[in-house]
Amino acid sequence: MTECEICGAEIEGKAQYIAIGSSKLRVCKTCARHGTAVTDDAQVQAQVKTRTTIGSEQAKLTQAKRRLYEQMDHEIEEGLEIGDEYGRKIKEAREKAGLKQAELAQRINEKQSLLRKIEHEEIIPTDEVRRKIERLLKISL
Ligand SMILES: [Zn+2]
Repeated sequence: MTECEICGAEIEGKAQYIAIGSSKLRVCKTCARHGTAVTDDAQVQAQVKTRTTIGSEQAKLTQAKRRLYEQMDHEIEEGLEIGDEYGRKIKEAREKAGLKQAELAQRINEKQSLLRKIEHEEIIPTDEVRRKIERLLKISL
């Protein structure tokens, strides 16, 4: 089993590689679209040689990774970040806290219709909404 070094997804078929700074990352097809694709080590070596700074390589790699994450924010939100049964978790935590849907919606400044859809898992909450729910109900989705 091979995992994508950026998003952590399992890579089906042949792994692809992209260069970030002087590092080479093994990535899935989706992530490969966001980087400079390399096909073999020789290409990576060539890129490394053109680099003059060495010290902050790790920092640059972290930065580059973060940029990639930002670019892919949408995909990650939809595909990977939220756990299974988030709707049920929210509903249970809400009821445990003795809150009605409308009350919770009011506390997080969102519409009840939005909360209802989230609880029914018809829509995935945005990061902002999710954080508000998590904070208020003290749960982790
Ligand atoms: Zn990936």
